[in-house]
Amino acid sequence: MDTVTETFDALTRLVGAGDVVVLSGAGLSTESGIPDYRGPSGAARRHTPMTYQAFTRDPHARRRYWARSHLGWRMIARAAPNDGHLAVARLQRAGLLGGIITQNVDGLHTAAGATGVIELHGRLDEVTCLDCGNLTSRDELHRRLTEANPGFDARVAHVNPDGDVDLPDEAVTGFRTVDCGICGAGMLKPDVVFFGETVPAPRVADCFAHVERARALLVLGSSLTVMSGRRFVLRAAKLGIPVAIVNQGPTRGDGYASLTLDAPLGATLTALADRVAAGPVPAAAV
Ligand SMILES: [Zn+2]
Repeated sequence: MDTVTETFDALTRLVGAGDVVVLSGAGLSTESGIPDYRGPSGAARRHTPMTYQAFTRDPHARRRYWARSHLGWRMIARAAPNDGHLAVARLQRAGLLGGIITQNVDGLHTAAGATGVIELHGRLDEVTCLDCGNLTSRDELHRRLTEANPGFDARVAHVNPDGDVDLPDEAVTGFRTVDCGICGAGMLKPDVVFFGETVPAPRVADCFAHVERARALLVLGSSLTVMSGRRFVLRAAKLGIPVAIVNQGPTRGDGYASLTLDAPLGATLTALADRVAAGPVPAAAV
């Protein structure tokens, strides 16, 4: 047996025993056409992510964000769950998972049929008002922004996981943003955690509670670059809970893992689910 086969067998034993908490990142969504800006294709990212401070304090930065994001949304909204998301949902239906935590904001775990997903960094398909706190749908905002910006048809060149696209300055200047439709004047922000912003404490506590109850932590498609996700790996390792990592390329959690598999997510997770989640194939996976 080669090393990859042995590692895969060890992974099936670990996951097959159940009570596994999944922690997923951008690498799980690349096969859905959403680039992983920290993975192997990361060099393609041509601008730095929006920070919370710039978004809330700088009207031009905010306009730039919404103009780019408005174009990017059409592609994000079209993205469909891939084999990796479907396999995770199968593992959950087979009763093997003690929770799914994702760093992704694309909603694709849930679209694949998973339930109770903890979305660590929020969801891109919801919009929050920073004044009144009301949540509204991104689709509704998309309609309002389209109405406010007739003829805004700049070419989409590149989409990042946060729904942002590259756009020349001159195209940004004329873009009109809109305010909250409920309180009338509040600043709208996608309901995602920006850089420079902290994840709400109850959500973090919920994640830690899941990890601490787990028999194993399974990291899928995350390079664990930011502490926001890496802290769960550190906590598991500290408690002696085995950590398994399936990712393309090295991660910053490899030193804490009892098992690492550098392999494509969709094919690997499908093979894993075939081995440990036997039973009728759910309609969503056909
Ligand atoms: Zn409002």
